[in-house]
Amino acid sequence: MADYREMWKELGMDLETHDQLCEVLPMAFTDVYLSQKNRPENMGYFDFVVSEIHGVRPAELVQAQKDGKKVFGTFCVYVPDEVIFAADGIATGLCGGSQFWVPGGEKVLPTNTCPLIKASVGARLDSTCPFFKIADMYIGETTCDGKKKAWEILGEDVPMYVMDLPQMKRSKDYKAWAEEITELKNKVEDFTGNKVTAEKLADSIKLINNKRRALDRLYSFRKNKNIPISGKDCLLISQIAFYDDPTRFAEMTNKLCDELEKRVEEGVSVFPEGTKRILLAGTPLAIPNWKMHNIIETSGGAVVCEEMCTGTRYFERLVDETKDTVEEQIDALAERYMGINCACFTPNQGRIDDILRLCKEYDIDGVIDINLKFCNLYDTEGFLVERALKEAGIPVLGIETDYTDSDVQQLRTRVGAFIEMLER
Ligand code: SF4
Ligand code: SF4
Repeated sequence: MADYREMWKELGMDLETHDQLCEVLPMAFTDVYLSQKNRPENMGYFDFVVSEIHGVRPAELVQAQKDGKKVFGTFCVYVPDEVIFAADGIATGLCGGSQFWVPGGEKVLPTNTCPLIKASVGARLDSTCPFFKIADMYIGETTCDGKKKAWEILGEDVPMYVMDLPQMKRSKDYKAWAEEITELKNKVEDFTGNKVTAEKLADSIKLINNKRRALDRLYSFRKNKNIPISGKDCLLISQIAFYDDPTRFAEMTNKLCDELEKRVEEGVSVFPEGTKRILLAGTPLAIPNWKMHNIIETSGGAVVCEEMCTGTRYFERLVDETKDTVEEQIDALAERYMGINCACFTPNQGRIDDILRLCKEYDIDGVIDINLKFCNLYDTEGFLVERALKEAGIPVLGIETDYTDSDVQQLRTRVGAFIEMLER
């Protein structure tokens, strides 16, 4: 990695502790990613972004701030990036996916909080992630209880704005979400000093839709019998989508897709014929959480789809691009975002329907339903998800895990036995 120490110092980071993270991350990446055979050449861009994860994009964000832009940190796929970009702001995902940050979170949060929340809080309070230090404002949401309380703690350290996400999907809830998006627009306008016009919002709707289109295209190649790219690589791309520049990200993903198109024509697969096709459902896998994909893909399975926020929930369905007024555009945003099916909603049949649909679209042999430890929402919904899958005759394995390596051996045994069972 190039030398970014001066920038990190100026950001007020704890350099000594951060050095420890910089030592372990490249090793993990080499083990999990660079050991794969026959990777598409165009993964080079995404490998570079990760190898410089705390350098290259943070440096761009710092430069943008020097040029007068504001950076907004977000934690959930319900927060509409379009509004932020329309005010000439920059949105960047902040969810933490490393055990490295968890103890920092545990200093202020109960141990029985999900690792994603603990890692996110720890990354900020311990000053060991540049993204968390750069963001001028955090945008939280009222999704799960753990997050709601975490915002109060983070709000003492950084300007925090919280969107009130409805928990049901009645027409009045759609209206309420449109109102919340309007209030976010007002807040972002105040904070940046820039007006969100219909023209600007139309541009940013296209910008973010193009990112969705690129991801949708990427995922479409995984539906093939010959799978031209590993699940691990697709997960990495989904994770990078949250913080990379959206125009460049779509361009580089489409470039990779061109290569995958050729691979499909030539019948190239990165997995041996007959490898079992796995759908992962459940809680998000924030960067650098590659644990489950690595276990599955080194145990004879291929992950071909993720029904996750780091997966289909992030990119499926576009925002209507035909609206002319800010009001109509905000309604279109509310419509698209309320269509996401997170376990924080009740009832949530839409998510079960999504999973069953994806099983067909991706020709799935089995589903692994993953729950991050202490996520009560997804854990509880797992009962209904797994029952629906069993009723549909689709084998399913429910797994609860965290960011530590302590259960890797046990998970290998369980996943290995599940995949073996699929072969019968
Ligand atoms: S799982 Fe739910 S709360 Fe978490 S990022 Fe996804 S939509 Fe947001
Ligand atoms: S995984 Fe569950 S507990 Fe954790 S942030 Fe998401 S919804 Fe909340």
